[in-house]
Amino acid sequence: MSSEARFLFLGCSTSVGVPVIGCDCAVCTSGDPRNARTRSSAYLAGPFGNILIDSGPDLHQQALRENLRTIDAVIYTHGHVDHVAGFDELRAFCWQRDSPLPLYGSAQTHDILRQMFPWAFVPEGTASGYVKADLREFSEPFEINGLKIIPIEVIHGKVLTHGFRFEWQGRAIAYFPDVKAIPEEGMKLLTNLDILIIDALRPEPHQTHLSIAEAQEIVEILKPKQTYFTHMSHELDWATTDQALPAHIHLAYDGLELSF
Ligand SMILES: [Zn+2]
Ligand SMILES: [Zn+2]
Ligand SMILES: [Zn+2]
Repeated sequence: MSSEARFLFLGCSTSVGVPVIGCDCAVCTSGDPRNARTRSSAYLAGPFGNILIDSGPDLHQQALRENLRTIDAVIYTHGHVDHVAGFDELRAFCWQRDSPLPLYGSAQTHDILRQMFPWAFVPEGTASGYVKADLREFSEPFEINGLKIIPIEVIHGKVLTHGFRFEWQGRAIAYFPDVKAIPEEGMKLLTNLDILIIDALRPEPHQTHLSIAEAQEIVEILKPKQTYFTHMSHELDWATTDQALPAHIHLAYDGLELSF
C-alpha cells in the first residue's frame, strides 16, 4: 500500500464565495475556472484514513465534484458559518458507518454545532438519518492512525480559531485558512514545513484576515518549502495574482491536489 498522503482543496473562497452573488466584476465573470471558488474546506487522504477539514456550506457540491465516498473524521478550525454550515451534508457519510463520526474541535466549536444543529445532539429519539456525532475536543496534539495533528491557536476576530500542523512520515504540512495573526508560541511550532497553506484574503488589509502582503511576511519568517494561499476573495484574479508572487508561493484553486 502506498504511504503517500494527499491534500485536496475542496474550496478556497472567503465566506461569501466567488463569484459573489450579483457581482459583475472581472473575477466574478471570468471564464477561468480557478476564479470559481467554493467556501474553504479540505480533504486529507492517506493510509491514516480520509479526513475532512471543516464542513462548509458547499460540502454537497464539493463532495460530488471530487467523488468523495467516505469520511473517517472531521477536524474543525472554528465555528464560523462558512466552516460549519454544511454539517447536515455529513449525513450521507454517516449512513455508511457503524459508529458515530468523530468530530474534532475546540469546546467552543462544539457548542456552536450543538446550538446550530440541536436535532443531531438529542441523545434519545434521534432519527436514524441524522448526523451521528462523536464530539472529540482537542486542546493538545493528537493522532489519527499515525497522522500527527497539532492544533495551533490563532487570532481571527472574536471566535476561538485554530490552524493545524500535520505530520506524516517525516513530512509536515500546515493549514491556516482563517487567521489575522499567529502568536509567537504558534510560530515556533511552524518551522520546517514542506507546505504552508494560509489565509490571504485580498490585497487590502482586513480586520480578521491576512492580506496578501501580511501572509507573505509570515512566509518570509517561516520559510516553508512551498506555500499556497487560500480563503480568497473576488478581489484576486488567479492568473495575474499567482504570476506576481515569488516562485515558491502559489494561489490555491478548487480541486488542486498536493502530495505530502
Ligand atoms: Zn472562513
Ligand atoms: Zn466580483
Ligand atoms: Zn472565520
